[in-house]
Amino acid sequence: MELPGRVLIGTDIIQEFGNFLTDLSITNNILFVSGPKVHTVLKDKLETSLNSSNLNFDWKIVEHATNQIIDEVSLLCQNNNYEIIVGVGGGKSVDVAKLTSYNENIPFISVPTSASHDGISSPFASIKGLERPYSFVASPPIGIFADIEIISQAPDRLLSSGCGDLIAKITAVKDWELAHIESGERFGNYAASLAYMSSQILFDQSLNFAQNRIDSVRNIVEALISTGVAAGIAGSSRPCSGSEHLISHALDVISPGKGLHGEKCGISTILMSKLHDLDWQNIRNTLVRLNCPTKIDEIGVTLDEMIEAINIAPTIRPDRYTILNKIELDRENIKTLLSETKCI
Ligand code: ZN
Repeated sequence: MELPGRVLIGTDIIQEFGNFLTDLSITNNILFVSGPKVHTVLKDKLETSLNSSNLNFDWKIVEHATNQIIDEVSLLCQNNNYEIIVGVGGGKSVDVAKLTSYNENIPFISVPTSASHDGISSPFASIKGLERPYSFVASPPIGIFADIEIISQAPDRLLSSGCGDLIAKITAVKDWELAHIESGERFGNYAASLAYMSSQILFDQSLNFAQNRIDSVRNIVEALISTGVAAGIAGSSRPCSGSEHLISHALDVISPGKGLHGEKCGISTILMSKLHDLDWQNIRNTLVRLNCPTKIDEIGVTLDEMIEAINIAPTIRPDRYTILNKIELDRENIKTLLSETKCI
């Protein structure tokens, strides 16, 4: 099992970051990896905190998570003696930090500034390849530092995406169970239960989301971190990623730039839960209450694109058995599924 070493979650704790590092016995050079916006907003607070702990640091500003950027950051690490890489931001910066950390054998810390997906704690990173995005197995962060005050100020759409990625664990776990029954794949009951339980938090949160945002954001962040831990326990992304993720990845290829990862996963979870004979209406209603998109046109995806995505989804990871291998759908079946679940 690969698990994060230390997790600090709190409200308005950014000034504690220097202490968080020294508690992890970090005493020397630190490399921050972040996007330009996050850098502008958090630079002063992070630098003040590090200066008061007498820690040296550099910044590397990245705009994309591509192999070229990873190579640049790797080179930077080879030329400087960094003790730790800190990924500050949403998806891309944390992914770049995670992969560079893996390539250069330097530990990394995750400082999420939004709760848009479960990559903040998981050992998996996705990188834009030449033809399609692909997923790497890296290492989990040795520390996660989540300031709920900062995360709750992120755009609502990012939080909705996190909710979609969380609710996706319902069908991911079902697909895993199915693979165990149909093809004898090992099923890790504990990892599956942890991922499933994390998704269940959304049903409660969706009822009091508007009244107590800070509390809800904290619960969602904790649940997202737990699903990353479930992946660390399973040693694979299985408990977190099933047919709904394959469709989301297929959409990355077919209609790049449309919809966020978790938004695509959320809509696909409604569809796949119907195939699994689960209570898809409850899943859909929960997503509606959390202001998550539930129709493909809300994320700009056309009917043809969605049909194509569901068609090619099983080819994205042929080794990953899901409900889409058991139930073969033709164009008409897919159209009916989309309309019955009110996704079109
Ligand atoms: Zn995901």
